[in-house]
Amino acid sequence: MKPPFKKAARVIEKIEQAGFEAYFVGGSVRDLLLGKEINDVDIATSATPEEVKRIFPRTVDVGIEHGTVLVLEGGESYEITTFRTEGEYVDFRRPKEVSFVRSLTEDLKRRDFTINAIAMTKEGEFVDPFGGKEDLEKGILRTVGKPEERFSEDALRMLRAARFVSQLGFAVEENTYRALKESAPLLKHIAVERKLAEFTKIMTGDHVKKACEVLVSRDLYRYLPNMEAFPGQLLKAAEILRPGALDETEVWALLFLVIRKENCPRFLKEWRLPTKKIKEIYRIYDAFHDRLSKEWDLYGVYTYGLETSLSAEKIHSLWNGEELDKPLARVRELYEKLPIKSRKELQVNGNDLLLWKNKGGGKWVEEDLRRIEKAVISGEVENDKRSIKEWLMP
Ligand code: ATP
Ligand code: MG
Repeated sequence: MKPPFKKAARVIEKIEQAGFEAYFVGGSVRDLLLGKEINDVDIATSATPEEVKRIFPRTVDVGIEHGTVLVLEGGESYEITTFRTEGEYVDFRRPKEVSFVRSLTEDLKRRDFTINAIAMTKEGEFVDPFGGKEDLEKGILRTVGKPEERFSEDALRMLRAARFVSQLGFAVEENTYRALKESAPLLKHIAVERKLAEFTKIMTGDHVKKACEVLVSRDLYRYLPNMEAFPGQLLKAAEILRPGALDETEVWALLFLVIRKENCPRFLKEWRLPTKKIKEIYRIYDAFHDRLSKEWDLYGVYTYGLETSLSAEKIHSLWNGEELDKPLARVRELYEKLPIKSRKELQVNGNDLLLWKNKGGGKWVEEDLRRIEKAVISGEVENDKRSIKEWLMP
């Protein structure tokens, strides 16, 4: 058994010793069967949260109303969730109530897709009532039960479908595929934050092109913030992307390029991205624009810093359909050559200038500092006080 499961098997054993059932469930079982790297293992149990808390000395209530307790054991933490069914759904997004049940099959039945509804015992045996293993082998994404019902219970599942297409490259089963289009308008009821989390995973998956084709052909894109006018642009961005090439922030910068900057302020506001992220995106965008008109030079990589320059260069290379390695190495080389990496390393500061020139402060200080920076970076003057003074005031 693989390491994360081996360690977690002790947790299951303790629950069983207390007289309850417990299994590995969800993404970790799916990823194990796919031979993928396993992040966190989730455990489902017949014990109620109170019963779980009685078994383990160290627990945290992370989502007790959904039946989830975080258990700290052996230097790790595990989310342990009581088997549950979800009662009636209201507003196409959340169950009115969850009820705890003692049956594993009932719990697996409420899960979204067959590939996510496989349980595994601590001995490594699978419980797979909906044919999830077969779908995994065939590369098929299929809802547990009737797709239109499952999508109307929680419309987010439709974006989760596109997300799994992007991460796994799977084909969507026929009925599920049809229901996506029929149920797409229900996405109106889903909070932007939940959409954003799935959209980010869609855009950074290895099969983003396939996933964006699902978003567009199934009309799902219409219910993403501000995307209604840009289906072609979304497909274009997906076309340009390559597996693992861009991180989340860089993907947004690329989206900006294809939908044009003047549309962006409105666009970002509706997606409710954090202000810090928005600033980073604009900075990459600006660096890319500078790059369009000229090759990188020392002052360029100094101005934008290494990370932003690399991000902009990556997008530039993708945009032109070029390999990434060489251009990125070039940016790194330039950055290494910089005599100073930031203004802090300059051997003079504003105070020196005020003293030397014996003038009151003003815009000129910043202008002089910038001139000095440029001269130091281009090698025109050494970065030491005397040389700079002589150069500035001959
Ligand atoms: P990841 O690798 O991204 O964590 P995951 O499959 O573990 O993928 P989670 O969002 O962590 O996804 O959810 C864990 C499990 O809970 C899923 O595998 C699925 O069984 C179930 N699940 C999650 N969200 C839903 C949903 N909206 N509707 C039904 N079942 C869900
Ligand atoms: Mg998970």
